[in-house]
Amino acid sequence: MRFTARAAALLFAAASALVMSSNAALSVRTVHAEPVEAEEIEFNIERYGVNRVVDFETVIEYDDTMYSDETEVVSEGVTGLYIDKMSAVFYGGELVKAELDDTVAVTEVEPRLLRVGTLPGSRADSRGYYIWPVEGVITSYFGTRSVSVGSSNHRGIDIGVPKGTAIAAADSGDVIFAGWASGYGNFVKIRHDNGDITCYGHLSKISVSEGDRVIQGDKIGEAGSTGVSTGSHLHFEIRDGGVTAVNPLNILPEEY
Ligand SMILES: [Zn+2]
Repeated sequence: MRFTARAAALLFAAASALVMSSNAALSVRTVHAEPVEAEEIEFNIERYGVNRVVDFETVIEYDDTMYSDETEVVSEGVTGLYIDKMSAVFYGGELVKAELDDTVAVTEVEPRLLRVGTLPGSRADSRGYYIWPVEGVITSYFGTRSVSVGSSNHRGIDIGVPKGTAIAAADSGDVIFAGWASGYGNFVKIRHDNGDITCYGHLSKISVSEGDRVIQGDKIGEAGSTGVSTGSHLHFEIRDGGVTAVNPLNILPEEY
């Protein structure tokens, strides 16, 4: 848009003025004025857009089911991009005012949402209690037994499950053995923070390596019938203090 001051001045000179009379009645008086010589001053309005970047904020949500070293990104933040539509008025080349007319969102800003645990300790710490490594039927109990295959003093329990069934770590701990062991076949031993060791025998597949830290419930392998075994099952032991095999049924929860 472009006007000149000259045009504006001429327009004014020819205008009629409205005047209020003393008795409040409206009267119209025409004022004739001589055209005024005015300097030509440029008056213009410029419209433009300004890109505006808005950084996202991080919002933290606390969760008492997670450990204090656990953090979960619920949603990644999105940086906002906006265009501020401005109009600037120049008079004689000088900026008189700039106004924001409208804002258009190219990308709406979205916060980054973090979930942070508040449980004391670490996720990798042993919980101090055991879960069932697999759900199944007990096919052989702890203690003395008469068998044609395997030990007559059974140091654990056998849980009958199909080959390939996932076997879980009964508690968090360090994998201190993962490999072949006489009688046990594919065998995994985990030492827990209290010194107890849990053992998992006859696996068809081992999914961990010696030195791994596993979390309670993590898959450590798959059930099978390797070693001295008559059918697919998990042989599970709990060794108190890492030495004395104890009856897992006295320690595991009553139900899976
Ligand atoms: Zn067994």
